[in-house]
Amino acid sequence: MRRYSVRDGTLYATAFYLAPPKQVHRLHSMISTVPGERHERRGPRMTEHNFASAVKKIQDALGPDCPEARGVRAVTSPVLGAELTEDDIVALLDAGPQEQQTLFALADKVRKRFMGNAVHLRGIIEFSNYCVRDCLYCGLRRDNRKLARYRMSIDEILKVAAKAAAAGYRTIVLQSGDDFHYRADDIARMVERIKRTAAVAVTLSVGERSRKEYAVMRQAGADRFLLKHETADPDLYRRLHPGMTLDGRLECLAHLRDLGFQVGSGNIVGLPGQTVRTIAKDVVLLRALDVEMAGIGPFIPHPDTPLASCPPGDLAMSLKALAVARLALPLAHLPATTALATLHPDARRMGLSCGANVIMPNVTPLEFRRLYEIYPGSIALRAPEDGGIAEIRTMLSSLGRPVSDTCGHSPKPEWARATRVAHTSAH
Ligand code: SF4
Repeated sequence: MRRYSVRDGTLYATAFYLAPPKQVHRLHSMISTVPGERHERRGPRMTEHNFASAVKKIQDALGPDCPEARGVRAVTSPVLGAELTEDDIVALLDAGPQEQQTLFALADKVRKRFMGNAVHLRGIIEFSNYCVRDCLYCGLRRDNRKLARYRMSIDEILKVAAKAAAAGYRTIVLQSGDDFHYRADDIARMVERIKRTAAVAVTLSVGERSRKEYAVMRQAGADRFLLKHETADPDLYRRLHPGMTLDGRLECLAHLRDLGFQVGSGNIVGLPGQTVRTIAKDVVLLRALDVEMAGIGPFIPHPDTPLASCPPGDLAMSLKALAVARLALPLAHLPATTALATLHPDARRMGLSCGANVIMPNVTPLEFRRLYEIYPGSIALRAPEDGGIAEIRTMLSSLGRPVSDTCGHSPKPEWARATRVAHTSAH
């Protein structure tokens, strides 16, 4: 068992769990489960009463549904959701088909109240598919020798970023495997040059680095950093990520927080060996980290990984996890992830209707995009070079949701200034 707490802005993780690491080659047989039973509850079955009482807690905290209340709590009560216990979260995740509708409607209401109607588009450039890690679920893993590898040059990356900014993206996400070919200085140079030429925010997603390297990137002007915790179960984490630990991940996240990044994390739903309780712990951890962004998407098996024959994550559970995250993290940016949209053709729309307020279209040149295969069949492969911005606008307008024209910084008070500065420099 592991306990998390935040004191004085620092994350403290106390480990009580000292199980020895298992042999990785035995992992599949150890964690494989019968499809449909992977989210079976380990404790007593949660009752409808638990679900109703969890919903009531949020409704009470939300207060009256009147126009005057809108936005007020974003300032006065940034901790809506703090009242949800881990058991409440399990009860919400356990929602049956009827209860789900109540959960989704409540998450949509919280999203609207705290984050507004606009949807932020973040253009992702996947600039390298090299990775030194060997995560068991990922097609980019070091040991996948079937994958052709690529690295984009800094000039190529800058050209794509400029095109994305011209197409209307107000955030550029630079993403790669854990590829140390690019030194912190190289990444800093990219960030500086992108920000010098376009009024955009820059998010980095380049994996685990030292505090010193993160500091160089932050100093260059990087606004945000995404580093998913993937699973809050330390043993499962160790088995899925050979040579890595959840503690190591949390230490990186603590450095990013300290250095003043807007911090993003997130988790995978439907990992083999996961339970509803594990997903509840994911949400509790995201809340303890007080993240500004959280990416929550389903597991999709890749044929060239040790988890090839495991079933994919469940659509309903992925949507419920997203909705519960919205209740627990009212001020976080939550994307309707590409993995979710890959699972079901209408899932992006569904995600936007149960808490999500971000879409992350892929603007990587098509020749490279097909090689950034964390999982197969990504919908990003069917999108045009600019990520399909026109189609996304059409879909959003059918939902009555405008595309944001801001950089979409966190609405937390500490970032409000950054938003104002970004607006000023954009006009
Ligand atoms: S999940 Fe990330 S760190 Fe792990 S192998 Fe894939 S790209 Fe590398």
